[in-house]
Amino acid sequence: MKTLIPAVILVLVSTVTASLTFSQDAGGSVIQWDPLEGSYDSLVLRCSETAYVADDPDWGVILATVYPDSTGEFSTSVQIPAAFVVDPDKCIADGICISVCPTSAITEDIDGKAVIDPDLCIACGICANVCPVAAIFVPSSGLYYGLFGVSEEITEELIQESVQ
Ligand code: SF4
Repeated sequence: MKTLIPAVILVLVSTVTASLTFSQDAGGSVIQWDPLEGSYDSLVLRCSETAYVADDPDWGVILATVYPDSTGEFSTSVQIPAAFVVDPDKCIADGICISVCPTSAITEDIDGKAVIDPDLCIACGICANVCPVAAIFVPSSGLYYGLFGVSEEITEELIQESVQ
């Protein structure tokens, strides 16, 4: 007597987690992402020393805003200059960094928090050394990066993030 073995069709559903990758070249740091699936007006790249918490609109430092080219396509990478940045979540607006910067690269935003002009920053690190709350850092490997899509319907939506 034959034993009928039911055919089992195993369907593997693989969830592809799109992620950002970090690398360095002669011009600075390069953040690369997978081609987009959604439709957006612009992309915002943010970076933080702490992992993204869902729906936190103030998470991280804005490193770049990317717009589509004339055909509507987005680049899949952006180069970040070798400059220090200020985490607005940590900054206590004491202005100490502004007074020590040798190139006057640091100004205040409307809340009095420090903002560094990457074109003027020479990455000397003086500001980071005097900051009492460690709010100033250089985007590097080992940090958290998030790519947010921006469109008329949504303000910002996390669409890809770095994997530690
Ligand atoms: S790293 Fe140096 S040049 Fe750059 S903002 Fe800080 S103090 Fe200014």
